Amino acid sequence: MDPSLSASPTSEVQEAPRNDLHQPPSSDVVAPEERVAELTDLLADLDDPPHFGRGSSLKLSTTQENNLIQVRLGIASSLYAALKWKHEPTARHCLRVALNCSVWAHRLGLPQERRDEIEVAALLHDIGKIGVPDQILAKPCPLSRQETAVMDGHWLMGLEILRGCCASQGVQEIVMHARAWFDGTKEGLSAAGEEIPLGARMLSIVDAYDAMTTDHVYRPARPRERALHELFSYGGRQFDRTLVKSFSELHECDERKLIELVPRRWLQILDPSAANAAWGLNSRAAAPPQLFAESLFQQRLIENMDDAVIFVDAALRILRWNPAAERLTGVSGESVYHRLWLPSLLRVRDEHGCVIRDEQCPVAYSIRTGTPWMRRLNVRGREGRVLAIDAHAMPVHSEDGTVQGLALVLHDASQETTLQERCQNLHEMATRDPLTQLANRSEFDRLLDVFVTAHAEKKRPCSLIMSDIDFFKEVNDNFGHQAGDEVIRSFAALLKGSCRAGDLVARYGGEEFVMLCADCDSGTVARRAEQLRSAFGRTPHDELSGKMVTASFGVTEIQPGDTPDTMLRRADRALLTAKEEGRNKVVQLGSGNETADQPLKWPRRRPAAGDVLVEQRLASGVPLSVSVEKLRGFIADHHAHVASLSGNRVALAITCGPPARPFLHDAQRPSHFTMELEYSEQRAWHEGPDGVRAHRFIRTLIKVAVRTASARDRRQKLAAERARQLLISLRAYLMAIEPVDGPETSVLERAKHLFAPWWAKK
Ligand code: GH3
Ligand code: MG
Ligand code: MG
Repeated sequence: MDPSLSASPTSEVQEAPRNDLHQPPSSDVVAPEERVAELTDLLADLDDPPHFGRGSSLKLSTTQENNLIQVRLGIASSLYAALKWKHEPTARHCLRVALNCSVWAHRLGLPQERRDEIEVAALLHDIGKIGVPDQILAKPCPLSRQETAVMDGHWLMGLEILRGCCASQGVQEIVMHARAWFDGTKEGLSAAGEEIPLGARMLSIVDAYDAMTTDHVYRPARPRERALHELFSYGGRQFDRTLVKSFSELHECDERKLIELVPRRWLQILDPSAANAAWGLNSRAAAPPQLFAESLFQQRLIENMDDAVIFVDAALRILRWNPAAERLTGVSGESVYHRLWLPSLLRVRDEHGCVIRDEQCPVAYSIRTGTPWMRRLNVRGREGRVLAIDAHAMPVHSEDGTVQGLALVLHDASQETTLQERCQNLHEMATRDPLTQLANRSEFDRLLDVFVTAHAEKKRPCSLIMSDIDFFKEVNDNFGHQAGDEVIRSFAALLKGSCRAGDLVARYGGEEFVMLCADCDSGTVARRAEQLRSAFGRTPHDELSGKMVTASFGVTEIQPGDTPDTMLRRADRALLTAKEEGRNKVVQLGSGNETADQPLKWPRRRPAAGDVLVEQRLASGVPLSVSVEKLRGFIADHHAHVASLSGNRVALAITCGPPARPFLHDAQRPSHFTMELEYSEQRAWHEGPDGVRAHRFIRTLIKVAVRTASARDRRQKLAAERARQLLISLRAYLMAIEPVDGPETSVLERAKHLFAPWWAKK
């Protein structure tokens, strides 16, 4: 407790007048004794309960009031007059507060000097309201956020006014700290407890009490008990609890007597020269009040932000809860002030909707570790709605690095979430087949590209199943489209159920489905297709009166030189073959990944149009007729066409790359090639070790050259790479390899070498 509070409360009652020489400040005032009597009468008119806080009924004539102010403020009384002209209720409030502060200071037995400071500070503590627009001061209803911000700024304006003319440091200190909170949490004012001057702690209590117990244009006066209760409830936080108690005890005294002492003191005892001593040109006024201006800016910023701002101290106590936080959560700042921040306060959930328990509080973690974070959370918003928010936690470090608290910014992300959900829905609509809920054709095309590229790069096997329900038209014709739909759904479910991790099944159109099988070679995928075929063929359908339906399957594995297109076409050809071979069948096409990657010959010089980009001699261990059949597959899958045929030579025109469209980037334009193939067949008898003709050897030899049909220097590299891929693909289709040496001898030598151990065993 402040030691001065224990001083004799009545010391001034017996105090002798100090200023017998007192002269009234202006010539038209009446004699002091008469004025005292008159004022005492007027003060006695104050409404019951007496004076503290009911000053609105203080009925002083203008002259009387002026007299009182003149003796108290001396030359600075013009400041009070200016405030009165600006807004009379505020000036009267200041006078009442000053009178009541004076009485209280007297009761507390404060030294004369302290009491002078409190009285002057109280009279001018609202002087900054001169700078507040009239429409805000006189607004008959609660102020908007912006208006409140302007109104709050009066404190700084008042300080600036005083700084220019007030020579009393004590007065300035009191006005400056009258807004401080006892617990030191007031923005921009870090002083706490007894660091706050006693006069400021007293002024803040009397100021609040008078404001509460006086009628305003925007709200009626509150009862005295209610106001005292309010002061007590904020004791220790906003107000000094000991002083609140002392202030409440004033009401138990003979207040009238005490109040009477004030004008007496002012009119009879005060030395006008002493009153004037507090005023003069202040050189320190030149210094701009940067600190305050800055804190004002910060305050405005936080008050007016659209995002919720919450400050917590190191003990997780809530220090600030801005208006946006109130709007977002529906929780008032007042109700949470100094409460502990806990996730349960807002029923915080993580981005997956799981409740975050209080002991897992991410804010506490951030304070403990000093680490900032940003994450999407869900909280309970206004009216209990669940809100998605982007939360950003920023620990506040002191100069020595310790964490003092944390600023939490909550951004309402519900709009963005809704947008994301809508995008998600749109994406679903764009990529899903509504009947089967499988991926649709365009999604499959997109993923096939990714799938093939990834597996080709990793040189991992991957396969494709293409399937189509047999005689489905008849199903529709005989049982109706509804029944047909059910059969489609049941086939889709069967395919979907057989998917493994990494697989993708899609409805390619009508009753045709495709299935990408990751890390799966053609042998395995053919077995899987066989199981599907068998399972579907054995399934009776209720909507078809228990009848069964079959499906055909074409399967293929990715092979060297494949593009998504060639792989898909090959699977389609396989399916077509299955249909042609009687349906309810699995047909597999393609060589798979077995074909060895062999070096290709590159031209030494930069090729012009018609030049050979890449060439190779190939040998395929099948007769010419079979090799030509395989070439047919290559032609079909590459969309090639035969440009010329002469003898054993065939020239193919092939276009590689995406279809031609205007304004395409170079790499997106197609390349045109001519692939020349010169066929020969080699037939020989292989002799056993005993010289007996033992084995007939047939193979097809092909000389291949790929030329550019239209060379463009800039795209030469791209064209050469595409030509190389074409040749690799041809090799895979023909299941051919490059003969090691000369065509005849080398193959024979190689065969001899391969078969030698076998012959030896025999
Ligand atoms: P195939 O064995 O040669 O495949 O004979 P198919 O009758 O199944 O072949 P086709 O392609 O001629 O007929 C497919 C039919 O599938 C034609 C079309 O009306 C029907 N269809 C396509 N989509 C749907 C669908 O969503 N629901 C129903 N119920 N029928 C569909
Ligand atoms: Mg069909
Ligand atoms: Mg079909």
